[in-house]
Amino acid sequence: MLDLVNRNGQVITPQGVGLWDVGVRGEQIAVVAAPGTLPTDAARVIDAAGQIVSPGGVEPHAHLAHGIMSHPEQPSITLGPEDDTRGMACGGTTTHIDFAYVRPGTDIQPVIEQRAARWKGNSYVDYAYHVTLCGTLDLKAFEQIPEAIKAGYPSFKVFTTNVLPPHPKRQGNRLDFGRIGFAMEKVAPAGGLMVVHGEDEDLVQFNYERFRHEGRMDGTNLHLVHTKLSELLAFRRTVTLARAMSAAVYFVHTSAKEGVDTIGEARADGLPVYGETLHQYACFNAEYYKTPRGFCSHTYPSLKFPEDQEALWRGLVHDGLATLATDEYPTSLELKLRGRTIEDVTGGNVGAEARMGIGYSEGVVKRKMTLERYADITATNAAKIFGLYPRKGAIAAGSDADLCFIDPNVRKTLVKDDFHVTDYSPWEGWAVSGWPVMTLLRGKVIAERGRLLGSPSDGQWVSRRIDPGVLRRPAC
Ligand SMILES: [Zn+2]
Repeated sequence: MLDLVNRNGQVITPQGVGLWDVGVRGEQIAVVAAPGTLPTDAARVIDAAGQIVSPGGVEPHAHLAHGIMSHPEQPSITLGPEDDTRGMACGGTTTHIDFAYVRPGTDIQPVIEQRAARWKGNSYVDYAYHVTLCGTLDLKAFEQIPEAIKAGYPSFKVFTTNVLPPHPKRQGNRLDFGRIGFAMEKVAPAGGLMVVHGEDEDLVQFNYERFRHEGRMDGTNLHLVHTKLSELLAFRRTVTLARAMSAAVYFVHTSAKEGVDTIGEARADGLPVYGETLHQYACFNAEYYKTPRGFCSHTYPSLKFPEDQEALWRGLVHDGLATLATDEYPTSLELKLRGRTIEDVTGGNVGAEARMGIGYSEGVVKRKMTLERYADITATNAAKIFGLYPRKGAIAAGSDADLCFIDPNVRKTLVKDDFHVTDYSPWEGWAVSGWPVMTLLRGKVIAERGRLLGSPSDGQWVSRRIDPGVLRRPAC
């Protein structure tokens, strides 16, 4: 007997889109069947007529319960999983990947354990962590990489830049290129993948110094500090290093045409290089910084130009970019808008709740993205690249019953009440066609029409192992 059957929906499966019925037993999908062929005695039947059924979203880039570095004189942290994953659940995202930061003097395993203890019982959706390697790490920390991969943590994040300005003094995130190469040397043969924030440190830091010298401190100059050229230099340097080390690379928050082009060239050469962009970068450009709430859409590196937005959409709709993420960084509106200069604006924003809906409305409705491609960039590709597939990211027998139902008939202008995290959304005022209306996590309905039905004990840690094919060539 099945526990749940959903009928009549337009279902996005690995075999294509069709009117399938989906049968769930326990926490998993038991069967995807022709309409009307499943037994009718399931405990719950959901009629999804007129709706689109997509794999539950996989958000590959979130910073919850994370130290905020923008205002070192007033230390604070972003909202934790108990707050932010409410929004993910309501917005159709069923798995997120956060970060465990390994800094000089710390080891990988204890840092992961600290994060795991923070999440346990506090997440409405499933979760995992990338391991972030930062600062002048002792070389012996790199010896722990193969063990971490074996334990289910196969992705390693590095920053090629400190990101933030030299004034005031802050703890740096940057890993030097020698150490990045050393990490690749350890990560690649053990079955792992590099996750790279690519910006040229020399250019970024020089630009901060120069703009201070020239008195151009207004935050509306952020895209002239975190430049297109800086992304080009760092992406190219990283690809060259990765080629030498036979390492697979995933570039987070690609913001510029130059980044998309570099990823495309590497992939055309057969290299296992993947690119992520953010819905903020695709939908806004630097002109927006000049508006009263413009910095709500600021995430490092920076918003860029209309030609970059076009390239990002091309990469998302057709090929070249693999994922649509958010770089989730939830704070209050007051904290988000604290600071107006290039040295003190707050980076990051709250966006994970809007991601599935914005991706649908802007991608599928406005730009003719296929539904298959929509599922790829919001769920399937992240699941494949980070070793969650086919447990996550697929509507197929044996996969977790993680589903996002989208009602394509919803037409609305988003207001604060559409959201469930903190006191603002950068998407307030944005008009959408289509919006997520129900979310299932491992067979349980955790949200329905903006009502949260799940509990913070629903989310579980998911072990990851990356398919070797993903690490050898561009697999998605
Ligand atoms: Zn980030």
